[in-house]
Order: sequence, then C-alpha cells, then structure tokens
Amino acid sequence: MISVTGARKNYGDFVALDDVSLDIPAGSLTALLGPSGSGKSTLLRAIAGLEGLDAGRVVIGDRDVTGVPPRSRGIGFVFQHYAAFKHMTVRDNVAFGLSIRKRPKAEIKRKVDDLLEIVGLDGFQHRYPAQLSGGQRQRMALARALAVDPEVLLLDEPFGALDAKVRADLRQWLRRLHDEVHVTTVLVTHDQEEALDVADRIAVLDKGRIQQVGDPVTLYERP
Ligand code: ADP
Ligand code: ADP
Repeated sequence: MISVTGARKNYGDFVALDDVSLDIPAGSLTALLGPSGSGKSTLLRAIAGLEGLDAGRVVIGDRDVTGVPPRSRGIGFVFQHYAAFKHMTVRDNVAFGLSIRKRPKAEIKRKVDDLLEIVGLDGFQHRYPAQLSGGQRQRMALARALAVDPEVLLLDEPFGALDAKVRADLRQWLRRLHDEVHVTTVLVTHDQEEALDVADRIAVLDKGRIQQVGDPVTLYERP
C-alpha cells in the first residue's frame, strides 16, 4: 500500500496540495482524477520523489520514503511524452534497467520476452522507437517500467497525447497488464471515462484537495 499523509505543497502563494491524505491499496489500479491544475501531477510526483513536499509523509509498502530519492523508491514511471533511447531497439529499451543492474542474460531475455508478449509487441523486438506508432511506444514504455519489478507503477497521463481510439485501445492493454502483473498502479488522468474504464479505485481531486475516494460503482452511477 501507498500512504500519503498531510501532504502540502505551495508554489509561491499558490497551494498545489492542501493537506492531502490518501491510502492506495496494494495491488490496486487507482486513478487520480480531476481538472487541469487540481494537483494530480504534483501528488504523483510527490509519491515518486520527483517533487519535495512542504509538509507531510509518503509511505510505500512498509517504508517511509519521505526525502528518499526517486531511484531508491522502487517505482516505475511512465510520462505522457516518453523519452525512449532512439538508438536502441525496442528489446534493448525494455532490457535497459535489467542490463544496468547486470542481471543474467537468460533472465533478461525471459523477462523481456514475457513483457513484450503481454503488451502485444512480441514481433517488434528489433525495431527502433521511431518505427513504432504512438500507442506502441507507450506500450513499450509500460514494459520498460515493469521490467525491473517495481513495487509501484506511476502513470502521468500516459495516453494523453494520443487520439481517442488509440487511448481506448491502450486502456485495454493497461488492464490486461495489471491483471497479469498485479503491481500497485497510480494513473493520473483528467478523463472521467478513462478512470471509470480502467481503475478499480478513483480519488477525485479539486483545487489541491481530495474530494472523494471510492470504487467506480460507488462514486458514479453508470447509465
Ligand atoms: P494537474 O496535474 O492536476 O494538472 P499539477 O499538479 O500539474 O496539476 O499542478 C497544480 C498547479 O500547480 C497548477 O496550477 C500548476 O500550474 C502549478 N504548478 C505545478 N508545478 C509548478 C511549479 N513547478 N511552479 C509553479 N507552479 C506549479
Ligand atoms: P502536465 O502535463 O503534467 O500537466 P504541466 O504542463 O502542468 O504538466 O507541467 C510541466 C512541468 O512544468 C512540471 O514539471 C511542472 O512542475 C512545471 N510547471 C507547471 N506549472 C508551472 C508553473 N505555473 N510555473 C512553473 N512551472 C510549472
């Protein structure tokens, strides 16, 4: 579980996070939903350690990670505009985190093959990022983030730059991936339909505060 307690973040006079407390259950796919400027990215970056808090604490699993740098938090991160290594194949991009950790070749191969299969890129191992569509590139980013077995997967509008049809398709891939890997996942989105479609838990933010938290059925009555 991820536990944020009393998180506060100001940018000058502007209050981006106003005493936010939120528990994210282990193994859940939780959406942070709210309008632009409501503090979703700030909260996600605080969980990642990319943003320092003015007050409050962040606990991941049984570890208080407040003040701990991002690389030591056991997180995988996927952004809206993913920066892949252009000169590396899809395979090498996904393998990167394992290679720098000097894991055995056979383990790397097995892991990368598995992940590429789950995200539907098994035929694309030897392509370069420029030869992929936007949706395929984000699927590669998901595989890459998961390769090192992070405790937590953080997604900041990962499908935001893509058109509606590709986004809908990517939601299904994300669901499938989550069903296979069960990693605790936090997804930032301003798209209510996306949150309802993909998340098993939704935290609604507005003006730096949590408005409501619950499962999609309790929060919204579907027509
Ligand atoms: P969201 O992800 O919900 O769109 P953000 O968390 O990105 O919201 O931002 C919340 C508010 O904080 C926005 O109004 C944004 O302009 C402001 N903000 C975010 N980062 C900074 C920063 N580094 N400096 C000043 N203001 C910022
Ligand atoms: P997002 O795509 O997540 O909404 P933004 O465009 O809000 O991202 O922010 C991109 C980057 O710019 C972030 O690192 C954020 O901290 C910073 N930022 C956002 N708003 C401001 C602001 N008003 N002043 C300075 N930096 C900002």
